[in-house]
Amino acid sequence: MARYTGPVCKLCRREGEKLFLKGSRCLTPKCSFERRSYPPGEHGRDNQFRRGRASDYLLQLREKQKARRIYGVMERQFSRYFRRATQRVGLTGTNLLVLLETRLDNVVYRLGWADSRAQARQLVQHGHVTLNGRKTSVPSALVSPGDSVGIRNESMKNNYFKVLREDLDDRQVPRWLSLDTRNVSANILNLPARDDIDVSINEQLVVEYYSRR
Ligand code: SF4
Repeated sequence: MARYTGPVCKLCRREGEKLFLKGSRCLTPKCSFERRSYPPGEHGRDNQFRRGRASDYLLQLREKQKARRIYGVMERQFSRYFRRATQRVGLTGTNLLVLLETRLDNVVYRLGWADSRAQARQLVQHGHVTLNGRKTSVPSALVSPGDSVGIRNESMKNNYFKVLREDLDDRQVPRWLSLDTRNVSANILNLPARDDIDVSINEQLVVEYYSRR
């Protein structure tokens, strides 16, 4: 599945806020947004002062782009998630966030096994992660209540996971997940509620964006 391969910090500058796409670097003074919080491009610095009131469409578009970028999903797949969200019972915006949140790469990130969603995606693609005991290399696989996620036995010999096991002890995970720190495995207890999803996305604007089309 395709993924964005361009400069990551530009995305934060484009959205005008930190999206925390680079793991621990985002919390250091090396963060690009801390040093240059204006939009990217030749006229980015000038334009930040010239802009008038943003149109409703621009706000909706930016919110949709932000959601896509936080979860590392390309446009076509994101609109598929939206379509799927409309077919579920309940609020479309919340359904959309639940779908994004239950992606396997996001679950690995939420469990603290990776520093960022991009790193989590790589761990899955490289075959280190299991879903219900079977190796899965599809980052977009969706987990359901009752599923279990773990690390392949062979991969546990890898130094990265040995260090990870030591560091997981005081790891807090969202309440819809249950983490077994000793075995580096986890169970999905239930689907996340909106309150469990800690992202700064106004999902209603995303719904409005797709409702225009
Ligand atoms: Fe965004 Fe992180 Fe880059 Fe800072 S370091 S600009 S938060 S991706």
